[in-house]
Amino acid sequence: MAFESLTGKLQDIFKKLRGKGKLSEKDVKEAMKEVKIALLEADVNFKVVKEFINTVTEKSLGQEVMESLTPAQHVIKIVNDELTALMGSKESKINFSDKPPTIIMMVGLQGSGKTTTSGKLANYLKSKGKNPVLVACDIYRPAAIKQLQVVGSSINVPVFSMGDKTTPVDIAKGAVDFAKNNNYNVVIIDTAGRLHIDEELMDELKNIKDAVNPNEILLVVDAMTGQDVVNVAESFNEKLDIDGVILTKLDGDTRGGAALSVKAVTHKPIKFIASGEKLTDIEVFHPDRMASRILG
Ligand code: GDP
Repeated sequence: MAFESLTGKLQDIFKKLRGKGKLSEKDVKEAMKEVKIALLEADVNFKVVKEFINTVTEKSLGQEVMESLTPAQHVIKIVNDELTALMGSKESKINFSDKPPTIIMMVGLQGSGKTTTSGKLANYLKSKGKNPVLVACDIYRPAAIKQLQVVGSSINVPVFSMGDKTTPVDIAKGAVDFAKNNNYNVVIIDTAGRLHIDEELMDELKNIKDAVNPNEILLVVDAMTGQDVVNVAESFNEKLDIDGVILTKLDGDTRGGAALSVKAVTHKPIKFIASGEKLTDIEVFHPDRMASRILG
């Protein structure tokens, strides 16, 4: 399960701190050194860790905390608040268009869970009263269109496809017209991925973006790839100016680094998290709940 190791370590550190009663500056600094190691071991980006530890240390050494009757509790609360802030403080919602359809473009590397997550998002939005259509723009992977169709039919959401002989740009444009003419108010475009970031992929995604001007570009990343998530997010963000991230596979053995680093490094929020293969396994990302989960 995600974060188990980080949670265990933080709990040990805080238990020691609580056992001390009044805290000295040295106690706080020592505890922070241990928190730092725990975060680095959880694969959190080191610049993010450094800044985080500086902020928490500074706040913890404040007069109010040091002179209080339960300083350890204060320090733990500061850690909790700063973890929440690190992940964006509040949840980030989808930007729905005033003039439907709302166009959501899903991007990411192959295997990140893009197609599955497109289905999950469609299912989620349907449960919120939207009328989505899925769009098959991955014309390169032989089974991709079929996979999206299987996903679509299992959640009763139509899949717009023009086969694999039309360009993704034309498919995306065709899908928007189709949605307008048939009263679908959300268009979810499943784009092609590659095993690695390459110029050709990025150019194609940029062309789709320019052609349909999406309201949301959501980057799907596999939480199990840890630090790599940050690099992937930076590359996609640079080229496409993404609106948010969906972190998948949090049910796997993730150490937590991705969830804690993405927002701080890219300044783009995590909007949803996915923790399973079922099409209902998606939820809105709440930074405060994630912080509580990490602290255990
Ligand atoms: P794509 O290549 O990015 O479109 O990825 P797919 O949607 O085909 O997903 C790749 C694999 O990851 C599939 O076996 C999915 O069932 C699996 N997968 C996707 N999301 C999750 C998740 O949140 N948890 C788990 N455990 N598996 C997932």
